[in-house]
Amino acid sequence: MDLYSGHINRLIDELASLPGIGGKSAQRLAFYIINLPKDRVKKLADTITSARENVHYCKVCCTLTDEDICPICGNQNRNHKLIMVVENARDLAAYEKTGKFEGVYHVLHGAISPMLGIGPGDIRLAELMQRLQTEDVEEVIVATNSSLEGETTAMYISKLIKPTGIKVTRIASGVPVGGDLEYIDEVTLLRALEGRTEL
Ligand code: ZN
Repeated sequence: MDLYSGHINRLIDELASLPGIGGKSAQRLAFYIINLPKDRVKKLADTITSARENVHYCKVCCTLTDEDICPICGNQNRNHKLIMVVENARDLAAYEKTGKFEGVYHVLHGAISPMLGIGPGDIRLAELMQRLQTEDVEEVIVATNSSLEGETTAMYISKLIKPTGIKVTRIASGVPVGGDLEYIDEVTLLRALEGRTEL
């Protein structure tokens, strides 16, 4: 027997399909939303829709941006010969927050995972290789997570780039195994970056 009406059930189902939202949280959010003033709900829905419509991948580094080229790629004061490869835009934000990295980034939007059926073609690797062919790059720092997927991806990238003669380095393993970069404090991030070794 359905406890709630069709509309409430649909809202709960939609919310529960989001990452990190369990059934109970979805119910709580659904009732919270239903009790909000109508204009607040419209604003929330409009914000979601316009973010989805206006945010896309930077044409250079593939991070999420409102522009064709993100502010980091467009900044001529940064070192464009130094590219840090990260798994997602949240990891980029974590390094950006330290304010100490003067290079640019490349966002893969995932990591290679044979178990989940995610292959090299499913992440933004072709775009990275394209950049290396067309830009003057001296070093690629692989800053994928130290999870199995992150390490697999790092090894794969290293093998791809080695023949080009461009230096490939890996951030130090000061980052705990399986740790998501976004949860690690700035000091640890900087230590990992400074202690990077050649692959
Ligand atoms: Zn960019």
